Amino acid sequence: MGRVTTDGVETVVDAATVTRWMRSCADVFVEQRDYLTQLDAAIGDADHGANMTRGFSAVEAKLDGLDGGTPPGKILVLAGSTLVSTVGGASGPLWGSAFRRAGKALGEQPSATGAELADALDAAVAAIVELGAAERGDKTMVDALAPAVDALRASLASGASLPDALAAARTAAEDGMRATVPMLARKGRASYLGERSIGHQDPGATSTALIVAALEQAVTRG
Ligand code: ADP
Ligand code: MG
Repeated sequence: MGRVTTDGVETVVDAATVTRWMRSCADVFVEQRDYLTQLDAAIGDADHGANMTRGFSAVEAKLDGLDGGTPPGKILVLAGSTLVSTVGGASGPLWGSAFRRAGKALGEQPSATGAELADALDAAVAAIVELGAAERGDKTMVDALAPAVDALRASLASGASLPDALAAARTAAEDGMRATVPMLARKGRASYLGERSIGHQDPGATSTALIVAALEQAVTRG
């Protein structure tokens, strides 16, 4: 659908956007697999790269079987269910629930506005927090995703276009990712390390920043 241009067409998120987002995630996790593995080797069990790659390649395979009429919310629910069933690590159920909840928030409508996307991503954060009980500052994916959604909403509220608001969300996710370095892990495997988790970037916050960047790309480069 149209992007925001000088003629004032509002950018929306439709099935094509969500499909591009998921395919872009599949590509980026293949590219970044080794990097994520290294991050998880430092404070976890070195499977985060493999988990995300496996999960999103399974999502990509499911996309190939969809007809053009599937609404964006349903695509996200399918992606979430696929992640839950294909990823063994903590990130599978966490991201799986997040996408499922975001998809349910979008419902059956053929396209969503920026504000509706922000609501869906808020629902995603809520699902992650419900399942994993992490708060901001616990050195998890929440430290990248929650500020990204806040930035998206704040930018939209100040009148920014969806592409510009998503650029702000991507920057906030990257800042949140980097901010995990000095944190002490309080959730997940990294928490077993206690003080030794300090000084390392959280793998899940890193993959979150990649997912948010992929969303920005899917919306703006439609
Ligand atoms: P596992 O930890 O089971 O090996 P992964 O390596 O795929 O799974 O994912 C690890 C990432 O999952 C962490 O870097 C962190 O961001 C995220 N994570 C782990 N536990 C939680 C939790 N309770 N809440 C939110 N995120 C979590
Ligand atoms: Mg791991």
